[in-house]
Amino acid sequence: MRLKTKIHLLTTLLMLVILMATNSGIYFLYEKFTYNTEYNQLQTRANDLSSTLSQLNAQTNLQQVLRAYMPTEGAIYIYEGERLKTKVQASLEMPEGPSITYKMPAIWIDGTVVDITLQQSTEGVKRTLDLLKVILVVVSVIATIPIFLASLALGRLILLPLERLNATMRKSATTGNYEKMEIKEKGGDELTNINRTFNMMMEKLEQHYQKQQEFVSNASHELKTPITVIESYAKLLLRRGFDNREVAQESLQAIANESSRMHDMVLQLLELAKNTEHLDVHFEQLELAPFLNKVASQMQQAYHRTFIVEVEVPRFIYSDEKILKQLLFILLDNARKYSEDEIRILATETTNDVRITIQDFGMGIPAEHIPHLFERFYRVTGDRNRKTGGSGLGLAIAHEIAEQLGITIVVKSTLGEGSSFTLCIPKEGPQ
Ligand code: ADP
Repeated sequence: MRLKTKIHLLTTLLMLVILMATNSGIYFLYEKFTYNTEYNQLQTRANDLSSTLSQLNAQTNLQQVLRAYMPTEGAIYIYEGERLKTKVQASLEMPEGPSITYKMPAIWIDGTVVDITLQQSTEGVKRTLDLLKVILVVVSVIATIPIFLASLALGRLILLPLERLNATMRKSATTGNYEKMEIKEKGGDELTNINRTFNMMMEKLEQHYQKQQEFVSNASHELKTPITVIESYAKLLLRRGFDNREVAQESLQAIANESSRMHDMVLQLLELAKNTEHLDVHFEQLELAPFLNKVASQMQQAYHRTFIVEVEVPRFIYSDEKILKQLLFILLDNARKYSEDEIRILATETTNDVRITIQDFGMGIPAEHIPHLFERFYRVTGDRNRKTGGSGLGLAIAHEIAEQLGITIVVKSTLGEGSSFTLCIPKEGPQ
């Protein structure tokens, strides 16, 4: 059964049950209340009659007195023991049908104790109750129509947004586009929130897909050059390498250089392919000076260059040691590659963050290139990069890692004088 029909049937049924229960309740309460009122009236009348009888004398016209207290459509019976002493009634014959009676003792005019019984026909009450029953049934039947229509509208109201969502998903699946739902910017109900979540999910998927596309096209483009170089030198080696030692030497050297460049590039590509959004980041308190000294000495050991650490303040920072080290290695490696002199690592602090600056005194970066440095495969043009054999991926990786740590990187550079890359590390960790 369709969900719409289920909602429709269930709500209609529920409303009808509630309506019937309410109407029955009204009927039974009204019935009880009416009979109680009638009975109380009869009781009051009997009490009044009893007290009047006790004050009468032999000359009083008894029939007249009894008539005065007689209930409408009723009768009064006076019994002395089992014997009917006298009776008055509204008509000659008591109407047959339902009635209520009230019986109580009283003192008769001759001083004897008698039982007075007041009888009241409830035919009128019954007629009113029957009329009420008819009215309630008719009202219930008439109310069924709006209930039926309302539940139909309710089913539509709930399911229409879901049907639209389903249609959008189906369209996405068939067209291969990342279709989104049209929704209001703010507010809305739970269903609008579902649509909002759906749009967010689609946006993420689209971003991932675009990132992946961009990555694949960049990677294949970048790998094409070293492969072409290797291929052409290998062919040269095949043609002339066996006779000419110099050609063989040059070709093998080029092949070795390009393959090691490719090796580095593939490693970096794998690094980038890792989903940095889900890096396992463990923030902890790090003692800054020993940490920077360790990083510097590792670099010094590997490249036999001078790295000078100057920690002014602070003593501690709050970050992930392993990931921050990876970030520093990328920047220090660049500083080493693009300069000849010593490299300085300087730590300072401002009100909100700790700053670690990596300063080199190398060739510098032209100002127009600085905004693009963190793009994948971006390299400052010219021969200068050829000998360093970079891939243009280092700073892209650095940027992604920095984002995970809540760090911003500020670049300053003067051509011919050197460059500085400053890491601004929030004191309280990422917000
Ligand atoms: P690469 O593997 O080419 O070094 P990066 O992404 O690390 O790739 O750097 C991108 C480009 O930025 C480099 O090709 C280089 O031209 C420039 N660059 C990065 N760091 C420095 C630096 N310290 N001094 C001068 N140029 C730099």
